[in-house]
Amino acid sequence: MSHSLSEYGPLTHQPRKYGYSEKGCVLEIFEPTAGLAQILIMGSIHGDESLSTVLLSECLRSLQAHELKSSVILAANPDGVLAGTRCNSRGVDLNRNYPTTNWAPDPVYYRNRPDTPQNIALSPGAMAGSEAETKALIELIQDIKPGLIVSIHGFLGCIDDPDASPIAQDIALRTGLDLVPDVGYATPGSFGSWCKEQTIPIITYELPSQDITELKQLHVPVLKDLCTGHYHKLIS
Ligand SMILES: [Zn+2]
Repeated sequence: MSHSLSEYGPLTHQPRKYGYSEKGCVLEIFEPTAGLAQILIMGSIHGDESLSTVLLSECLRSLQAHELKSSVILAANPDGVLAGTRCNSRGVDLNRNYPTTNWAPDPVYYRNRPDTPQNIALSPGAMAGSEAETKALIELIQDIKPGLIVSIHGFLGCIDDPDASPIAQDIALRTGLDLVPDVGYATPGSFGSWCKEQTIPIITYELPSQDITELKQLHVPVLKDLCTGHYHKLIS
């Protein structure tokens, strides 16, 4: 039985430490109490998209420990979440810091809002894989070998899966979000590019720009299904 709403207060699941951020925050992963997780779900690789952390946390808090069948990282960039920045504490966009064939040392640009130009510069790191958060996540993934990774972002409002997998199709159908093969612009050194090169299936789940109440209503049930094994039969 899932927790009732009155029991949603504290996060009682016990995390495991997989490293430290550049500023010394503990990097944590929540894992099933028994058995191997096939799916890794993560939020807030971009610290200014921390509604992903709020939704994933609510999902975890709604579950009893034994119901969790997937691995969950609430915040892949905790320094960014605490500072409210897209980048980590060294000004690096962690989602452009991965050792991929297309990583480049040039600044990377993002937009503040959908209607503003993509002109805010961040660093992709002094070199590919330079940041503590990146190194720790790579080591973790090589260790736990997930069959699917779902990375939650905001707020483009789409489900990005170049393979258009059955799970991505189902999430798109349930959420009314478009299923797309890419986000429409180049993302050198992105976590998604790295996963593709490692042949790890990845779905980039871009939340829409909606208020938190609507986001909770529509997306927490989907996240819950991702966490509790509902989709495991669809992983090839
Ligand atoms: Zn993002």
